[in-house]
Amino acid sequence: MNQKCAKKMERKLNKLKHVVFKETGIVCSLNPTNNIVICNAGLVNGLSEETILEHFSVYGTLNNIVLVPGKSCSFVSYVELDMACKAYEALNGQLPIAQDNKPVYLLYAERLPQHSIDSRKVWDELPGGLVILDDFITENEEKLLLSLCCFDDSLVSQMKNRQVRHFGYEFRYDNNNVDKDKPLDEKIPKECDFLWKRLHENTDWKQFVPDQLTVNHYSLGQGIPHHVDTHSAFEDPIMSLSLNSAVVIAFKRDDRDICVKLPPRSLCIMSGETRYDWTHGIIPRKSDVVLSNTGSYTLLPRGIRVSFTFRKIRQGECNCQYTRNCDSYIRKNNSELQIAASEIERLHVIDVYENIALHFNETRNKPWPNVLEFVNSFDVGSVMLDVGCGNGKYLGKNKHVFDVGCDTSCALLDVCKKNGFETFLTNCLQLPFKDAVADGVISIAVIHHLASEERRLQAIEEMIRILKVDGRALIYVWAKDQHKNNEKTSYIKQDRKNRKSDTDVVVADENSEAPVSKGMTLPVHVNRTQFKHKDVLVPWRLKNQQNTVEDTFLRFYHVFEENELSDLCSKLENVEIERCYYDQGNWCVVLRKTLIKNS
Ligand SMILES: [Zn+2]
Repeated sequence: MNQKCAKKMERKLNKLKHVVFKETGIVCSLNPTNNIVICNAGLVNGLSEETILEHFSVYGTLNNIVLVPGKSCSFVSYVELDMACKAYEALNGQLPIAQDNKPVYLLYAERLPQHSIDSRKVWDELPGGLVILDDFITENEEKLLLSLCCFDDSLVSQMKNRQVRHFGYEFRYDNNNVDKDKPLDEKIPKECDFLWKRLHENTDWKQFVPDQLTVNHYSLGQGIPHHVDTHSAFEDPIMSLSLNSAVVIAFKRDDRDICVKLPPRSLCIMSGETRYDWTHGIIPRKSDVVLSNTGSYTLLPRGIRVSFTFRKIRQGECNCQYTRNCDSYIRKNNSELQIAASEIERLHVIDVYENIALHFNETRNKPWPNVLEFVNSFDVGSVMLDVGCGNGKYLGKNKHVFDVGCDTSCALLDVCKKNGFETFLTNCLQLPFKDAVADGVISIAVIHHLASEERRLQAIEEMIRILKVDGRALIYVWAKDQHKNNEKTSYIKQDRKNRKSDTDVVVADENSEAPVSKGMTLPVHVNRTQFKHKDVLVPWRLKNQQNTVEDTFLRFYHVFEENELSDLCSKLENVEIERCYYDQGNWCVVLRKTLIKNS
């Protein structure tokens, strides 16, 4: 190195010394120690332990690698001082593994930082229910098993994904399940039977006999994404035999990430929380970093690996305690939720409107201008449906279209009938129409009465289903925010002092709740105030002709946050959101039906 270069390097290192100190609190210098700081490459630049090990282990045995989360420097520690010196001389300013293949700059450090993502600290602390039995089979048995399932290596290496074969039942990757009533002709080979005898003799799993086998063939560099085996598909445990090559498998739960080496011929038994609550996966790469028995790091190259994963098909639903990954639990819970939702809608929407229909009709006559404008934008002869038409205040407004209304309230439909409108009784979750028959749909202040997100989405899906391609729908829902743009909506303006006599004002207690479905209560909203909750009961005070209160009914509302309605609509593939706006205390969208996008 000439003098000019040396000066430049010195300045560079001096600068980096301060950066490292600022980032990690570690003092570094040019005085040799066992610890080398890589000043300009770390986790934030995508540097991995694997890469460090590959280049630095050439000069001697490493006993630590520390990558600091969120930092652009990293640390390497050698067993001997002269190893560190050799590496320093050879690699400083030379090794191109920093950002954009720039060279790394090195210094020595007195100590290593304590903060690290060192996941191998927990290597000996396996997740609960995970058992690895080393040398479960002999090399001859390994050969026998490998011969049962031939994969053409030359062909396999050209494939992007690992190769699989199924015995007993086919595991379907589209729904991560098996067809339990369609067993395969090809059962688990008899040659595997010795495994279960050995298992029963040597472990606590005295009963386990699998009826499903998946053989995975991993070529060099292939992995498998993190997953939990579908609870309802298979019993506990799941067992996987590794053949031909070792691999490091990762188990994850919450913020814990545990790497476990699976040597060839080992049996990995996943039971209990490992089977149900931890995900497992294999990072696609050609080697793994492992900690050797002597406490130093080594790079473990992978070879072609074949795994035999044995499972027992579950009959019936899973009953485990690990609910968050349990498809059985989620299904059951969801169907209970849907039952509760329809119960709430029956008691607190449909029945209420039946009871208040006449009073409601007296108070709901003035159409909103933006809705009228939408209705009037349709051409002569267009077919329009008003989903949840109520007393029909938007029907018959555009004289050039054929419009029909529907609602769940017989009493409100009677009002429509008296006014000469075409209507029918139906729930908005199932519209009795063929696909693609309507040019326009409006649904004003309706789907906020549906008591679950699935049902609100289903209602939108139905409206879109009956629309022709290019047909448009207008949806209004009540907004949680009634003070948008610092402007009180008419709902809020009609506060207790200046309320009109014909409005549905009732003074409910703050924080009061009312029972809605078995074991469930919902907050009762205080009328003419901002909403505090998203799922609420809004009181309607029924008055007689003398304007005295006869009865109070609680209507269910789900009030929408900003963007919530458009986010919901975005879940549909055949919809384009044309417009999204706030009007009269409501969130509103104009949707256009499109052809289904080919993803
Ligand atoms: Zn389960």
